[in-house]
Amino acid sequence: MKIKRKIGLFLTALLVATLFGCTPKPKATDLETAFPRNDIYYQLFVRSFADSDGDGIGDFKGITENLTYLKDLGVGGIWLLPIHPSPSYHGYDVADYYAVNPEYGTMEDFEELLEEASKVGIRIMIDLVLNHSSTENEWFQKSMNNDPEYRDWYVWIGASSPRKNAVGSWNQTLFHGTGDSLYAGYFSNTMPDFNVTNPEVVEEFNNIGRFWLEKGVTGFRLDAALHFFGQNEYVGITDFMENVLLLRRFRNKMREVNPDVYITGEIWDNAVIYSEFYRGVDSPLNFDAGDIILNTAMTGGNAGYSSRLRMLYNTFSLVNANFIDAPFLKNHDQDRVASLPGMTMPAMKLASEMLLTLPGSPIIYYGEELGMKGVKSGGPVWDETRRLPLKWGNNYQTTWFPDSFNATVPSILNQDEDQDSLLSFYQRIAKTRNDNPALKFGNSFIPYRNGSYAMQGFYRAF
Ligand code: CA
Repeated sequence: MKIKRKIGLFLTALLVATLFGCTPKPKATDLETAFPRNDIYYQLFVRSFADSDGDGIGDFKGITENLTYLKDLGVGGIWLLPIHPSPSYHGYDVADYYAVNPEYGTMEDFEELLEEASKVGIRIMIDLVLNHSSTENEWFQKSMNNDPEYRDWYVWIGASSPRKNAVGSWNQTLFHGTGDSLYAGYFSNTMPDFNVTNPEVVEEFNNIGRFWLEKGVTGFRLDAALHFFGQNEYVGITDFMENVLLLRRFRNKMREVNPDVYITGEIWDNAVIYSEFYRGVDSPLNFDAGDIILNTAMTGGNAGYSSRLRMLYNTFSLVNANFIDAPFLKNHDQDRVASLPGMTMPAMKLASEMLLTLPGSPIIYYGEELGMKGVKSGGPVWDETRRLPLKWGNNYQTTWFPDSFNATVPSILNQDEDQDSLLSFYQRIAKTRNDNPALKFGNSFIPYRNGSYAMQGFYRAF
């Protein structure tokens, strides 16, 4: 693509200098049409975001009533953690793929969110957990009870099978249950794996995707996308490329429903592996950019930042020349940015600037924009403390889980009024991105070189 404009960005140890070229007013509508997947995304845990009815649990109406907050943050898309009925607080074990979690509201509430978000130009991507269901899912209950229609929807082996001691890729027990037959559950005994060699199951995946796209959902984040064909789960299938092919067929089906659908996937592995998934989804989530950014931000720009990113992009572009990167700092399965040892406010500001000036669809994990803290606990609570209530400082505050981490972190109410706050900083850099076509849409990334590592920077262009 012809380079029309260039923007230079330079990062130094403690001082951030952004040099933006004078650019004519962009033809935003043309670019939106050409690059419908380039947006700042906001990863949002509904339970922790905003409570509209005072029961302490975040809900769809809470999101609808706070779309302005997201617009002010420059957000063009929301990634909702699982919204389906589930026995767990997090929802990554789905009991019914065609309904919404009643704690979050009704289907009408969700449809209202889709409609209102669409009016203000915010896309909605939902987490889709297709590798496994909940044991409480009706399909699994029928399968377990030998219903001939559903028996083969899950992966069963006989109790005397030599495979019953098989383990997964982190040495975890793979087959669960008691009695004559055992089922595969790659992540947990409460998360039975679908039998993805069964065409009826694959067709059901398509039906589920179609159902939500027809409602107005604009994208999916596919959970555990490396594990559909899990290690040792099936006899004779050991190659991760089977997963890529499954995803590719799903993506193609979804594009028949909505050509602009945006599909991301969680392939938590090294870049050599996850980059291959550019053949199957629009954006395998970038599990390296966050470390590169945070290391650089905390060590003063001496980590070969731009050249390391350039090498990653080279890897991606070998698979898909038009790749859409999906970088993020931290996600719901990781300790929060603000809780990293040695983290400072200048480093968080620098990291936000680095993230929001990269190509593709950068993702902000809710609360990151406030400097919220949270680390994995040692049990009986585990990841809840990485997913704590967003700190509003008003009636929208959720209270579903006690927060002992963020007492001194200023609330949205306070940060909104403070031009030096992290939130205000995020708003400004996001606005800069959204106002500059090279930053928002440019897929060229050219490292700046001045002969030393004293200054890190890059050009963005399209
Ligand atoms: Ca509520």
